[in-house]
Amino acid sequence: MDLEKDDGFRPQKSHGEQTCLDSERSRITRAEGSRKKMFCRQLLGYFGVFILLVILACFILGAFLPPEAVRWASSIFQGTTQSNGQPDGGPPPGDLYLLGVGKADITGPVVELNLMGYADPKQVGTGLRQRLYSRAFIIGNAERPEERFVYLVLDTQSGDTAIRYGIIDGVKRLGSSYAVYGHHNIAVTGTHSHAGPAGWLNYLLPQITSKGFDQQGYRAIVDGALLSIARAHGSLQPGYLSVGTTKVHGANINRSLFAYLANPEQERGEYNISTEDDGSVEKDLTLLKFQRASDGKNIGVLTWFPTHGTSLLGNNTLVAGDNKGVAAYLFEQSVRGEDTAADHFVAGFSQANVGDTSPNVLGAWCEDGSGQMCTFENSTCGGKSQACHGRGPLFRFNDNGASSCFEIGRRQFEPARALYDRLRKDPIPIQGPTVKSFHTFHNMSDFSFRLPNGTMARTCPAALGYSFAAGTSDGPGAFDFTQHSGNENTTSPVWQVVRHLLKNPSPEQRACHHPKPILLDVGEMHKPYQWTPNVVDVQAFRVGQLVIIVSPGEATTMAGRRWKTAVADAAAGLVPHELAPVVVLGGPANSYTHYITTEHEYAVQRYEGASTLYGPHTLAAHINVTLAHLRYLAADGPRPPSHGAKGLFPPDNSNSSLSFIQPVVLDGTPLFKHFGDVVVDVETRAHYRRGHEVRAVFVGANPRNDLRLEGTFAAVERGVVADGGGRRWVRVRDDGDWGLVYRWRRTSEVFGTSQVEIVWETEEWAEPGVYRIRYFGDSKSLGGTITAFEGKPDRSCAIVNANSLYILVPLRYC
Ligand SMILES: [Zn+2]
Repeated sequence: MDLEKDDGFRPQKSHGEQTCLDSERSRITRAEGSRKKMFCRQLLGYFGVFILLVILACFILGAFLPPEAVRWASSIFQGTTQSNGQPDGGPPPGDLYLLGVGKADITGPVVELNLMGYADPKQVGTGLRQRLYSRAFIIGNAERPEERFVYLVLDTQSGDTAIRYGIIDGVKRLGSSYAVYGHHNIAVTGTHSHAGPAGWLNYLLPQITSKGFDQQGYRAIVDGALLSIARAHGSLQPGYLSVGTTKVHGANINRSLFAYLANPEQERGEYNISTEDDGSVEKDLTLLKFQRASDGKNIGVLTWFPTHGTSLLGNNTLVAGDNKGVAAYLFEQSVRGEDTAADHFVAGFSQANVGDTSPNVLGAWCEDGSGQMCTFENSTCGGKSQACHGRGPLFRFNDNGASSCFEIGRRQFEPARALYDRLRKDPIPIQGPTVKSFHTFHNMSDFSFRLPNGTMARTCPAALGYSFAAGTSDGPGAFDFTQHSGNENTTSPVWQVVRHLLKNPSPEQRACHHPKPILLDVGEMHKPYQWTPNVVDVQAFRVGQLVIIVSPGEATTMAGRRWKTAVADAAAGLVPHELAPVVVLGGPANSYTHYITTEHEYAVQRYEGASTLYGPHTLAAHINVTLAHLRYLAADGPRPPSHGAKGLFPPDNSNSSLSFIQPVVLDGTPLFKHFGDVVVDVETRAHYRRGHEVRAVFVGANPRNDLRLEGTFAAVERGVVADGGGRRWVRVRDDGDWGLVYRWRRTSEVFGTSQVEIVWETEEWAEPGVYRIRYFGDSKSLGGTITAFEGKPDRSCAIVNANSLYILVPLRYC
């Protein structure tokens, strides 16, 4: 452009006195000027073509290069256009925090062990539908990074005292940079899945049906939780938080409506918005979005929504994370490959005030051929609870609740995903730099305190009422040991040892729990060790205007509301006045204190009231203690006292619990067979459409020999053309996928033989192609040596034919 400033390119004045020489010089000068102009235009043209080529190259590179390389290249060409941290554009998203997310495998033994939740000793694991995970979310103050907290979401029935001790001890051993983590800032929450292995809980009562404590499963959970924390810690970087809420319809109902209706009409009316949202359960899902500042990509979401992890029914024997596990899986799948989401994006679907909610949204029915619904007052059929079962949305599929489970997971995922997209475009930022946390142990066995109306109240040593034994419509007739009939074969060996230790409650204990008729006086039984907790965890976190109540029990819908409202009212004085506090409740966490109902619901004594451990004032006591500690969440609040100084610790029974769980003795093979040999090959049939099952059976070994954490027992591999011709296999499904099911079956106790069946339930999004099924196992010799082996892949192949619509054809020679 500077060339145009040259005089030779300016228009020449014409004067009459100009000589011929002058005019000739002038002509030559103009001619030179035109040549220079042309040269300049050509140069501009070349430059333009060059720029176009560069842009084209960027597009081509973007399609083929790994994301890291594209990010590197785009930062060169885009300069600082992403400095506000919003890849979609939009306003700056609030304050900076230190953020990290991480996920790790916690799947314990998937066979020969009782599943945790329904308390049915006959519900023993036979395989794996979906691996269980710990998802860790760390939030820290950007200026004072020592002020941070870790929120763990485990695909387990609940948090637990022994598990939490294991995590807190283990985190100290991870290195000096982990010294900031401890009792005050680690919350261990469970999604309340009723389809995970049991045997890892600290107290005796839940150990009875699992034949005691299982070290292998306990270590899997603790070690996986630690790995998820290490991954989140390793990914810590500056970032932004957004928060929003949305309605989730069709994913929960109130399974104890009769008790809910005992709450004051006026109070219920406040939450009765419409026929679809009548307030009997909470329909709100709250989502916290984590976004890193470096390139504006989202690294994770953490959500809260209440619905029981009981979509997989009491007759299911495959390990899975139930509907929350499905929702997390679908969310993490959905962001894969999106340029607004980071690699290793983590979606946590945390449980909320879950107490009286059910995912069996079609209601409770008598499965006795009568076609009747169960009684409203006490969920019975003909006076008994056994035939009363809640129905999920797809209950007609005879699959132990699997289809309903996936559907309830999808119904949580879809609104959460829509909210996430909305927040990307229109963020509602978390504001204010404050990140605070507190935790304390509180003895609930005899706590006197003043109720808001001024009268004194007290809690009692834990006890369970008669309705506890009846179970719920999600799992009727739980704890069959309470109806011990003398059939020694069906009774847990732990129960044989401890049943004579049952004690009759004292008159004081009866009066304290009134109107609960006491069935099990668990809080006053200390032999051989404590049956349930008397000392509970009290904990809350705060970042900006968000406050997280971490509940040790299952608060019911209205109990959770009262607790959250009390905290919101008190927290209004903590957060800047222009911001309304956002309060969520996560749990069951840190321990398992069964249920927390309102006094009104308690008076009704359905299952949830009977399982409210510390008497009618359990909820009021929790609220009282939470509010008493809320000052520790103030921006300039005092540091909470260290646990060592106070000295009240619940017991850690992880090394002293009873256990009658037998180890694997050995694995054997039938004559002339080897581990991994194909017993039943993929079926030879002309057509496999999407939705069809591809199935193979192998000579197997006990999966308890090696849990294959962070690995897989089963896989589907897809054949692709290799560089030098031929075929190469790429793994497309593993144990983390819902549609790939692993089943194990003992075929001879004497010879230790077993079979493994792997079924790929081809999904509606399965791509046409050539596939093979893989099996990975580990066998144990009589001497105890464990040897890894692989299923023979060349015998179990299938092809999805791209020419015919979604068709699989078995291919023996692939
Ligand atoms: Zn529950």
